[in-house]
Parts: sequence; structure tokens; C-alpha cells
Amino acid sequence: MGAEKVGAWLADFAEQIRENAAMLTDLDRQIGDADHGSNMDRGMKAVAALSPAAFADAGAYLKKAGMTLVSTVGGASGPLYGTFLMRVGGAWPAEESAEGIGAALRAGLEGIVQRGKAEVGDKTMVDALAPAVAAYDAAVGQGTQAALDAAAAACAQGRNSTTPLVARKGRASYLGERSAGTQDPGATSVTMLIEAAARTLA
Ligand code: ADP
Ligand code: MG
Repeated sequence: MGAEKVGAWLADFAEQIRENAAMLTDLDRQIGDADHGSNMDRGMKAVAALSPAAFADAGAYLKKAGMTLVSTVGGASGPLYGTFLMRVGGAWPAEESAEGIGAALRAGLEGIVQRGKAEVGDKTMVDALAPAVAAYDAAVGQGTQAALDAAAAACAQGRNSTTPLVARKGRASYLGERSAGTQDPGATSVTMLIEAAARTLA
């Protein structure tokens, strides 16, 4: 798989972020500091300005996209999303395969967990991404499209599960019990990333 397909993935995600930036910032206004949408929009605009064709392969492009997010987004989500893309890029398969893409997504999730130390139930993006990767693996025998569709559905379900939770990581944790009742902004944006993957990567 060349960098063009992966470029289409991140271009789709950038568009979702642009369209939903106000909504993401509004979620972050309720349990954070009202910058998640604007942070991600700034970063994904910089990523969308990269030219996938200019890179030797998809892995190199993804690593550069990750570094771009680290340097432009800031906050908690910049390093976390940046690490995700750098790890996905480092593990991206030379030959397209459902298993290879699954392994790359798992490497990305592991990077986020290593960096942020969040567990499922802490009300973060991990609540959406961890079940997405598990669902991908469970469906991997049915091929890339089926596995990505399963991942996107599980991601959305995980995102929805964050609403009643009390945050134990990130800025929202400062609110204690008052963080319950709002969907986590990072779980919301990461679901857009996996839904974009299901539209573009197979
Ligand atoms: P900041 O909290 O620095 O303002 P953002 O608003 O851009 O950064 O991102 C907030 C999101 O980051 C949260 O909704 C949550 O999903 C995610 N997040 C925060 N801390 C962690 C962590 N330790 N592990 C995983 N995700 C986290
Ligand atoms: Mg914030």
C-alpha cells in the first residue's frame, strides 16, 4: 500500500475534525479547557498540507504526520495522537494485509497507553480505541473492510460509554464527579479517525 491511501485516511479525518471542531471544543468546554477541537483542527490542517506522494512509503508519511501533530497540537492530545501515528507508521506493513494493518493499529494504541497510562474506564480516547482494536482483531479473518467496519462500530460504542464515567486521567479528572454526564472529547475525535479509516483504507 502506498502513501496515497493512508493520505486519503488522514485527509478524511482532517475534514471530519474541521466540520466538528466546534462540537469537540464544546465537549472540552464542559469537562476541560475548551480547546480540543481547535487544537486538533490546527494539527490536522498542518498534516493535510503534507503531500503523501512526497514520501517513500506509507510508514514514512505516517511518522511525519505524527511528528507534525506533536509539534502543532500541544496539550494532552498532541503527544498522544502524535505517538499514535508515529507508532502506526513504524508498524505499517510493506504489503497490504488485514493482519498487517491490525498490527499497526495495535502498535498505535500501545503507544498511547504507554505515554498516557490510561486504562479502559478512565474516560479517555482509550475507552474508544481499545475496543476498536480488539474488534478489528476479532474480525480480521473476514478481511480489511469487515475488520475496519467492526472497529469503527466498537469505537463508537466505546465513545458512547464514556458519557456516564468519572474521569481519572487528563484535565477532566480535576472535575471529579462533575466530569460525569459529558462524552469525552478525545474519545469523540478518535472515533472520527477510525470511521475515516473504515471509509478509506480497505
Ligand atoms: P488538554 O486536556 O491538554 O487540553 P485536549 O483538550 O486536546 O488536551 O485533549 C483532551 C483529551 O485527551 C481528553 O478528552 C482525553 O480523551 C485525552 N486524554 C487526556 N489525558 C489522557 C491520557 N492520560 N491518556 C489518554 N488520553 C488522554
Ligand atoms: Mg483541552
